[in-house]
Amino acid sequence: MAPNVPAGAGVKLSEAIGRCRGDSRSLDLSESGNKSNGLKVSAKFHKGLLVQTAYDLKPKPPLSATVNSFGRYATDHMLQIKWKRGEGWGTPSIKPVQAFELHPFAQVFHYALTCFEGMKVYKDAQGHGRLFRPMMNMNRLMVSASRLDLPDFDKEALLSYIKHLVKMDEEWIPGHEGYSLYVRPTIMATAALLGLAPPEECLLFVVMTPCGSFPNTAAEGFRELAPIKVLVSMEHVRAWPGGVGYAKVGGNYAPAIVPQIEARKFGCSQVLYVRRDECEGDDGIVGEFGAMNFFAFMQSKDGSLELVTPVLDGTILPGITRDSVLSLCREWGEFRVSERTLRFQEVSRNLLSPFLFF
Ligand SMILES: *Cc1c(COP(=O)(O)O)cnc(C)c1O
Repeated sequence: MAPNVPAGAGVKLSEAIGRCRGDSRSLDLSESGNKSNGLKVSAKFHKGLLVQTAYDLKPKPPLSATVNSFGRYATDHMLQIKWKRGEGWGTPSIKPVQAFELHPFAQVFHYALTCFEGMKVYKDAQGHGRLFRPMMNMNRLMVSASRLDLPDFDKEALLSYIKHLVKMDEEWIPGHEGYSLYVRPTIMATAALLGLAPPEECLLFVVMTPCGSFPNTAAEGFRELAPIKVLVSMEHVRAWPGGVGYAKVGGNYAPAIVPQIEARKFGCSQVLYVRRDECEGDDGIVGEFGAMNFFAFMQSKDGSLELVTPVLDGTILPGITRDSVLSLCREWGEFRVSERTLRFQEVSRNLLSPFLFF
C-alpha cells in the first residue's frame, strides 16, 4: 500500500522523546569503562531507560540495497529488556546492535517460543519520523505473546522506548517516497530448558532496518502499485480453524519458506493460501498471503462493486494495513466493503483487479 500517512495519523517522535528530556543524568559506568560488548558508548539514564549511544556509527546502505534484500542492514541501536518469572521485567536498555549469548537449550531454539511485530516509520513532509498506528502493533504483540504464555508488558512504556530508539536512529529513516524504517519488536523465551515448558526467562528486543516499498518490481506505468504474480496454493495450509493464524508467532512463518520457494519456480513472488474444505472440488476458502492480507475488488452480475477481504475468523492475521484500508474505503462510501468468507471460485469469476497489501 502506498504509505501516504494521513496528517495526524502518525505519532510525532519528538513528542515522546521530549518527555524524556530534562531528566537525563550521566551514569557512572566505570566498571564497564563505558563499553557495551567491546563497543565504545556514552551512557545515560532517561526515565528508567538506560541509553548507551554508539560512538562509531555505521555507514548507511544505499537505498537500492534496501529494496532487493529486505532485512540485511541493522541500524546502529537496539532496545533490549529481560524478563524473569517471579521477578518481572528488568531495566530496559538501548545499546549498539550486538549479538547476544544464549544457551543451546534456550527454549526459543527448539519450540519457536517467540513472537514478533513489524511496524514502519515514515518521514513526513516536515522530515519528522512518524510511526504508523503503533499502538495497534503493541496490542497485537500482546495477543501473540499471551498465546505462547510469554509475559505481559506495559504497552505505553514499550512504545515510548521504541520512540526513543527510533529518534536515536532517525537518520536511518529513508526520505524517499515509498521507503520506510522497519521496526521489529520480538519477544522470545531464553531459559535453558529443553523440556517443553512455559517460558521462565525472556528477552524482548527491538531492532530496525531501512526498507523499500513492496512490491519492488514496478511495472511500466505503475509507480506505487506494481502487479505481481502469485501462486494460489491449495496444497499447503498456512492457518486452520483452532490454530494460531491470528497471531504473529514465529512458528507460523518457517513453514512458509518451502511454498515460497515453489512459487518462485513458477515465477511467482507470493503464495496465496486457499484452504480446501470438504466436497468443494477445486474450490476453497481464501485465506491470505504468507505475510500479507488479501483483498479482492469484484463486480457482481448486477454490476455492483464490492471490496472483500476474508473475515477475521482466527485463521487471518489482523493486519493494521487491512484495518486501515477497510476504514478508509468505508469512509469513502464508493462501493460495498465486506469482511466475509471468500471462496476462490468467486474471486476468479468476479475479480476486477486484485489488491495486495502488507
Ligand atoms: C504481518 C502480517 C500481515 C500484515 O500486517 P500489517 O499489520 O498490515 O503490517 C499480514 N499477514 C500476515 C500473515 C502477517 O504476518
